[in-house]
Amino acid sequence: MTGQSWVTTQFDALEDWSQRHSFWPFPFGTACCAIEFMSTVSSHYDLARFGSEVVRFSPRQSDLLIVAGTINDKMGPVLKKIYDQMADPKWVVSMGACACSGGFYRSYHVMQGIDEIIPVDVYVPGCPPTPEGLMYGILQLKEKVIRDREVQRKRQREEKARAGNQPAAVSA
Ligand code: SF4
Repeated sequence: MTGQSWVTTQFDALEDWSQRHSFWPFPFGTACCAIEFMSTVSSHYDLARFGSEVVRFSPRQSDLLIVAGTINDKMGPVLKKIYDQMADPKWVVSMGACACSGGFYRSYHVMQGIDEIIPVDVYVPGCPPTPEGLMYGILQLKEKVIRDREVQRKRQREEKARAGNQPAAVSA
């Protein structure tokens, strides 16, 4: 209630709205892409407009992993550990050609895409990727969050319906 006005909504709608407008990013920056990330969260591009500026350097306080830069094989286990330490629900943005596919590093020691070890929700192309590109990726992620939540709710409803149709267990 605000003054004399009332706002009513469904709890699911409120949860969807808050989930997609409050990402807390963990920047896993390893190379030049990280500079573009810094630009994105700074005053000129102002990622705060989209509710995603609360950058955290603890995986336990983050729900959005932004991988910005080249990932070599030695870093792979570290990246995987950080991803595993983040609580669900969590999302991953692969920022730039290096994180998405190894970029121009066609060499034995560079991972040819972080999706070899962790699931990726959004790929931001480019070398370097632009701040506009990252912001567009985050906007796309917001849409994906809503779609995923709808699918999840539908699955829960179906499971509930199936459970309701099960015959009662007969004890001997
Ligand atoms: S994609 Fe380009 S800008 Fe980004 S880390 Fe690789 S070489 Fe640097």
